[in-house]
Amino acid sequence: MKSSRPMNGRQAVAALRGLYGRDKSHRLPDNWRDRLPAPATYYGQHVEKLGKPNGTGWAQGRCPFHDDHNASLSVSLSGERGHYRCFACGERGDMVGFHMRHTGLGFNEAVRDLLGVRA
Ligand SMILES: [Zn+2]
Repeated sequence: MKSSRPMNGRQAVAALRGLYGRDKSHRLPDNWRDRLPAPATYYGQHVEKLGKPNGTGWAQGRCPFHDDHNASLSVSLSGERGHYRCFACGERGDMVGFHMRHTGLGFNEAVRDLLGVRA
């Protein structure tokens, strides 16, 4: 372990694993993305006044991130990532980002929450 050379990519990845992999409770299952709820299910439960999706799978609802009276939020119910964007306050992202913003959780915690895994 005596080396002054910079790490190559593989070593750097291993080092990061060592750094972040120590605490097993913070590890996500490899297939977590496949196990997320369907965007239609998730947004149906978390967005007020969610309407029917249009031809491209986007639906309008009330934005929870600002005081919205006009259903300014658009969510993609057909895409895998469940993207959302709000035309009034400018919030945008995917379903995990929505859940992070909604709950105040960090990324891993938000994903685990979406999977129904309690730490
Ligand atoms: Zn908004």
